[in-house]
Amino acid sequence: MEPVKAKKQLGQHFLKDESIAERIAHSLTGQSRCLLEIGPGMGVLTKYLIGDERYHFAAIELDRESVDYLAVHYPELRVIEGDFLRNDMASLFSPVEQAEGISIIGNFPYNISSQILFRVFEHRDMVPEVVGMFQKEVAERVAAAPGSKTYGILSVLLSAFYDIEYLFTVHEHVFNPPPKVKSAVIRLRRNSVERLDCDEKLFVQVVKTAFNQRRKTLRNALKPLNCSLEAIDETILARRAEQLSVADFVRITRTLEGGRL
Ligand code: SAH
Repeated sequence: MEPVKAKKQLGQHFLKDESIAERIAHSLTGQSRCLLEIGPGMGVLTKYLIGDERYHFAAIELDRESVDYLAVHYPELRVIEGDFLRNDMASLFSPVEQAEGISIIGNFPYNISSQILFRVFEHRDMVPEVVGMFQKEVAERVAAAPGSKTYGILSVLLSAFYDIEYLFTVHEHVFNPPPKVKSAVIRLRRNSVERLDCDEKLFVQVVKTAFNQRRKTLRNALKPLNCSLEAIDETILARRAEQLSVADFVRITRTLEGGRL
């Protein structure tokens, strides 16, 4: 069977370097009994995951040709043809299997990186660990700390519930075809925070609104919320979103809740 020819619209950049695939696989720390690979392509990473006895393993792949290729080369693999963004993760494993959650791994399709991460955030109670390759810039943004220029919405939302580590950088030449940018592998592990000490919906709204105009001070950036900002500390209002920690955003959200009619 012919190898699959990469399709640009599906964000296909197949990994050529097996040692990197192996390193990604070995970065998993066994936080769950289920493991889901997003976008296995021709299975370069899959190969190192199938044999991992810690996990019930399944993969979801949008590309029909890749699914057919995998079925021939890895007949034991549980692979679903579908879109990760539209499929219910839980339906891929039996209720007994998924009792301890579903970890996620992949050399992800870069065109949907942010959407994958927002989905992880939404399913945080189900996903104890994520190990994955993203374009370097996204990886840096997710792993950024307050005060850095790359610190943004995903850094705050994800670090509220995950410990995030930037593991290593990957050169573009190890892919076929090479992407235009460098890549990086990061790991997210669920922290012990079950619920934030504030209205979580409002928290998300506050974080998004604050970063929407990240150059402005909060006093101006938060205006679109149409809430009274009076009860928020002056020193906080004079700062910009990128200077605030998760705890600061929680505090702001609580203050706003208090001021709601
Ligand atoms: N893991 C492989 C392929 C990486 S390229 C390797 O390292 O070589 C990204 C893969 O994600 C492609 O195979 C692409 O077809 C698949 N993909 C793209 N969008 C997807 C989606 N929405 N859901 C599932 N898979 C997707």
